[in-house]
Amino acid sequence: MRVLKFGGGCLRDETSFARVAKIIEDEVKRESIIAVVSAVYGVTDMLHSAADSALEDEDRIPESIARIRSIHAGIAKRVLTDRETSTGTLQTIDLRMERLERLLYGISYTGELTEVVRLLVLSQGERLSAVLLASTLNSMGVSSRSLEADEVGIITDGLSDNATADLHATRENLQHYVFPLLQEKVVPVITGFFGRDEQGRITSFGRNGSDYSAAAIARALDADAVEIWKDVSGFMTADPKLVPNARSIDLLSYREAAELSYFGAKLLHPRTVEPLIATGIPIIVRNVHAPSGASTVIRADSNRREDVVKSVTYNRNLAVLRIHGVGVGHKPGIIGNIGRMLARANINIYSVITSQTCINLLIDSSDIVRSREVLDGLVGGVIERTETRDDVALIAVVGEGLLSTHGLAARVFSAVARQGVNVEMFAAGASEVAYYFIVRREDMETAIMAVHEDYFAS
Ligand code: ASP
Ligand code: MG
Repeated sequence: MRVLKFGGGCLRDETSFARVAKIIEDEVKRESIIAVVSAVYGVTDMLHSAADSALEDEDRIPESIARIRSIHAGIAKRVLTDRETSTGTLQTIDLRMERLERLLYGISYTGELTEVVRLLVLSQGERLSAVLLASTLNSMGVSSRSLEADEVGIITDGLSDNATADLHATRENLQHYVFPLLQEKVVPVITGFFGRDEQGRITSFGRNGSDYSAAAIARALDADAVEIWKDVSGFMTADPKLVPNARSIDLLSYREAAELSYFGAKLLHPRTVEPLIATGIPIIVRNVHAPSGASTVIRADSNRREDVVKSVTYNRNLAVLRIHGVGVGHKPGIIGNIGRMLARANINIYSVITSQTCINLLIDSSDIVRSREVLDGLVGGVIERTETRDDVALIAVVGEGLLSTHGLAARVFSAVARQGVNVEMFAAGASEVAYYFIVRREDMETAIMAVHEDYFAS
């Protein structure tokens, strides 16, 4: 049995729904399939704005509702050839839209938009797309049923927008709903992105969280594989927008995929591998436009390239927060303190590079001003001053075996140096599979090209 996840990029209009349904129709001939879906392309953003604008101005609600309804009803009318399915689906869409409308008026009347209510609003996108896909399958003669993550008991911890699935609780609930359907040859289409906590409140796995949903579902049901279907080919040796001769990668380890997912391409939700590592269930990234074309398999044991490096990637939205103090190397607990203070403000630290007199934290550019404010209270004590660098980009060179390969750092850095680019900071040895280094943002492309050229030229 396999779990097939389709993201918003593959669910845009009637043509793409038909394409996805055709893929499922083909796959289900061979083995049992469970589909997991994101919202229709762009809909989560629309729901976000619908919630915000309801809070500001009640008069804007009808416009939001009309827009979201017309997207889904439009797809239903055009893709569902079977009259009965079409009528039933349009009724379900109307029902859902009524609920959304009530939610939005609730926000507007109470003048309050809590995190839970926002997530309830956002979750409507997946609920609608699951109905659309199940109906598309049914109208093609492939029996299918849409299931909602909260109803089937995808249980998570309480972190509202960065939740972790409780695999134990989820397993029991999910098996109860899904196995009987599979036995009757019905394809379950489950909503991605959200779940609920023990108290029944909606929680989410964050933006693009449906990948993680699919992985948690696969683990809970002991699936043989998770397929993440995209509208592009799988992982590549570099971002093809920057490096025209970038190539596809056929095999990655979980660790390599996890490192790569935090950067550039955003091909996978970075936490997707988390539920799978313990059991070794593989992830296969496939392209809806070329089902038999290039794909990337991600599993426990990757092949080790002779040249070790598999991909060079980047993040240009990070900044460095430098914390100066002659004593920082001597003060027990200082990093812990700083980490806790930033965590309380919900600021994520991507990496820490320290010397005895300076701690460098890599954080999101958008958090940089706030992070300085949060740490303001420490200045004057162990910390002399803080400083920020927001004109940098982080480059990551990823490959299993990096750490144990003699001369690898030298080769990477000479390639970069030959192009006249200065490496401002680097971290090696933190992981077996990744080197990080920081360059000025304006040098980023040159540095990536240089490394890629050196490792993948022929
Ligand atoms: N629909 C959600 C989002 O846009 C989740 C997902 O796409 O995986 O972030
Ligand atoms: Mg997505």
